[in-house]
Amino acid sequence: MADKFQNFINGQWKDAKGGQTFENRNPANWDDLVGTFPKSTAEDVNEAVAAAKAAYEGWRLTPAPKRGDIMRKVGDLMVARKEEIAREMTREMGKVLAETRGDVQEGIDTAYYASSEGRRLFSHTVPSELENKFAMAIRVPIGVAGIVTPWNFPMAIPTWKIFPALLCGNCVVFKPASDTPKTATMLVQILQEAGVPSGVVNLVHGGGGTVGMGIVEHKDINLISFTGSSAVGKTIASSCGKTLKPVSLELGGKNAQIVMDDANLDLALDGVLWGAFGTTGQRCTATSRLILHEKIHDKFVDMLVKRTEKLRLGNGLEPNVDVGPCVNEGQLNTDHEYVQIGKSEGAKLLCGGERATEGELKKGWFYKPTIFTGVKQGMRIEQEEIFGPVLSVIKVKDLDEAITVLNGTVYGLSSSLYTKNVNDSFRAIRDIKAGITYINAPTIGAEAHLPFGGVKETGNGHREGGWPVYEFFSELKTVYIDYSDKLQRAQIDNY
Ligand code: NAP
Ligand code: MG
Repeated sequence: MADKFQNFINGQWKDAKGGQTFENRNPANWDDLVGTFPKSTAEDVNEAVAAAKAAYEGWRLTPAPKRGDIMRKVGDLMVARKEEIAREMTREMGKVLAETRGDVQEGIDTAYYASSEGRRLFSHTVPSELENKFAMAIRVPIGVAGIVTPWNFPMAIPTWKIFPALLCGNCVVFKPASDTPKTATMLVQILQEAGVPSGVVNLVHGGGGTVGMGIVEHKDINLISFTGSSAVGKTIASSCGKTLKPVSLELGGKNAQIVMDDANLDLALDGVLWGAFGTTGQRCTATSRLILHEKIHDKFVDMLVKRTEKLRLGNGLEPNVDVGPCVNEGQLNTDHEYVQIGKSEGAKLLCGGERATEGELKKGWFYKPTIFTGVKQGMRIEQEEIFGPVLSVIKVKDLDEAITVLNGTVYGLSSSLYTKNVNDSFRAIRDIKAGITYINAPTIGAEAHLPFGGVKETGNGHREGGWPVYEFFSELKTVYIDYSDKLQRAQIDNY
């Protein structure tokens, strides 16, 4: 019998009102049923939002340092359960254990950062232009935050949103991706155990169109934080635009790594293997394009193909596996369609390009790490997010052309440059249009205490991670206190 999981509303674990459920299976082995989860409807969303709204008064008035104390307990509980969560995460979405451990660690880092923010939540205190008058801006919570997240970082991304939302004094209604409901459940169990009061965090499982959109459109949800595809992000932004609901969007990417002719090629090789094929290429920051200086192009491609062909596919829970499965059949089909598109566009397929079905692999959604060379600017495989283990190699003559190619998509999340030339590095940092630039490191590797996010269609200008996310989850109230005992008119009496 598979485990049966529930929603968490107003401090109670409960089934969806309609009684429907959906299955969550292991993408490395479909025979392994991770569990069944409630397929919720608008009724469940309504109940969760009402609970959050009712809990808001008490939570808003809880001192931020006390909210921070709860976040510290959350971090401690995550440390204690790190291995268990990592294993369950690998089981439900496939990435290898080293990476799921890293995903949980990012949540732990985010919890401890949030805990410390409880004693800061800084804003500005500045002098008034008038005598005997005091001026400052303070941070206040906003209300009920709707949180909708993807499956590829099923612990880290929800924590990036939920912890700052709570620390700032908001209540939360959380809809995780349908591919990763178990990790989300473990996170909410921890929040409950750490002492988050009933109604402050509510978990509603179910589909994006019903539960996700139900949250986005709900009149008592005061702000939305979403990470996912640009297509869904645009739909959410238009919905929020109608009622001027604040919305933070972290969306797709088409990230590139540039390798110059003076680079340490072994280092650049390790970087691109990790960036392109880690998490089976299913990261918003995945290296999807490799831009090579013409002088090292042929040599580097040779080195790359040799190493790529040695990558071991398999169940991420087993030791020595480098690459896990695609998350589901739909993603595997998308990868394969893009391979056909690449071939028809005239790119040259050097390795991969097909499903892996040897032995146990036939029971899962495995796709061989794939490399195309001869990719030209403007080809669809060069422009569109694939979200799989498919790397497009583009040859360029110099740094200017490399940056032009890198900048030539609608996205702008992560970017990387391998070179030993300090002048080239600084020019790239100045001219690359992306939210993140790495020098001599892959496109992967965000740290929890720095801003994370992208430009252009990767988002709408907000950042997660570090301090800026606290700005999104709070509003500023400007306060003037006049202790002069007379009417003082700004801009008039003092000039
Ligand atoms: P997705 O299909 O956009 O789904 C993301 C979340 O939105 C899921 O919870 C999904 O629910 C829900 N959803 C789907 N349709 C919705 C709708 N009409 N209204 C409201 N919610 C809806 O993305 P994904 O496939 O899970 O994740 C991959 C994408 O996320 C990629 O584009 C990747 O680049 C992006 N991503 C970006 C970042 C970043 O920080 N920039 C980080 C990670 C991933 P269901 O699961 O039930 O469909
Ligand atoms: Mg699954």
